Amino acid sequence: MSNSEIEVIKRALEREKLARKQAELILEQKSRNLLMISRELKLANQKLTKLLQEKSSQLQGVFKNINDAYVVIDLSGEVIRMNSIARDLFEHQNEEETLNLYNLIYNKDGKYGLKSLETLEKEGFLSNFISRIYTKSKTIKWIQINASLLYDNKKKPIGAQGIVRDITHIKALEEKQKNILKDLEESNNQLQEYAHIVSHDLKSPLRSLHALTSWIKADNQGNFDKNTDENFALIENTLETMENLISSVLEYSSAGYEDNNREALDLKTEINNLIKSLFVPKHITIKIETELPLIMAERTKMRQVFQNLISNAIKYIDKDKGEVVIAYKERKRYHEFSVKDNGIGIEERYHKKIFNIFQSINKSSDSTGVGLSIVKKIVKLYGGDIWLKSEPNVGSTFYFTLKK
Ligand code: ADP
Repeated sequence: MSNSEIEVIKRALEREKLARKQAELILEQKSRNLLMISRELKLANQKLTKLLQEKSSQLQGVFKNINDAYVVIDLSGEVIRMNSIARDLFEHQNEEETLNLYNLIYNKDGKYGLKSLETLEKEGFLSNFISRIYTKSKTIKWIQINASLLYDNKKKPIGAQGIVRDITHIKALEEKQKNILKDLEESNNQLQEYAHIVSHDLKSPLRSLHALTSWIKADNQGNFDKNTDENFALIENTLETMENLISSVLEYSSAGYEDNNREALDLKTEINNLIKSLFVPKHITIKIETELPLIMAERTKMRQVFQNLISNAIKYIDKDKGEVVIAYKERKRYHEFSVKDNGIGIEERYHKKIFNIFQSINKSSDSTGVGLSIVKKIVKLYGGDIWLKSEPNVGSTFYFTLKK
């Protein structure tokens, strides 16, 4: 080997030595960095573990202390986790035994259950699913479930978690309420029917009494003294009042019945016809102040409403020049009507009372105290309301609405 060759190898060796040294230096630096990073990682890991422990014990607390049943199921309905309330609800105390939620669903609710399951899978959550379930002892309970799907880290659904609430007592109350309402409706109908029959039946003996008194009077014409004549007039008057009362009760008892005969009514024509059929004294004028609408209603019921209000307005006018004004205002969801008079007026303390049956402030032979109660009953049947504004000695305005 020549000297020059030896020199080349020597230099190469020195370069390699230098490179190794540099590499060692870099490595040392890197491993120092790595050590630091690993220390930091260890610390972060410790912190995370602590945080996780805290969170999971918090969750555990929620899971245990929640007041409703909490259940986690897999996609086949198998219960994976449940809290003690869920165990009590399903009467499932043996932790070793498996429990499938779908198997608990009451037969008749099965179809609805399946549909709700589809919703849960499609939407990812289920709100207020209500169904009946069998518990272990085969008692039936009503439950309400709010649930959401659980996913794995690839966003694939793996199960569901849900809050299950026992609403058996609420359902029982609802059922009770429904029955009470049904009974009430039935007895109400019976009562109306009863009033109808009684008042109808009372009319015929009354008619007989009427006939008998007129026969006695005819048979004894000229034989009675003044006092007996007066007493007979009193009897006839009383009989008439009774007949009026009975007719009113009859009318009242049929006023509240559901009307199935609604038709398109042109109120302008209807009210004009009605006014023509009423007895209007010469000193009273009746005016329709505004346009009147076309409404869907039963003709006889609308007639009853307007007839009672207009007749009252006429009846209670005490001025030399009487005026009755009918008007209409269109509201968003209601038709609003008013009947105004310049009559005796009504004190405010009677404003509610007069709508009750048999309540009349001014007793007279043609006053039965039934008219306004009929009006109110019909207005209520049409989803409306009735009220009045009035000033004693000046006049009254009755307002009422009918739902469109
Ligand atoms: P009735 O007129 O047969 O007594 P209603 O039920 O129609 O029965 O009216 C109840 C009472 O309300 C009446 O007795 C009367 O005192 C009062 N009333 C009704 N309408 C008016 C009116 N337009 N003006 C003054 N008082 C009225």
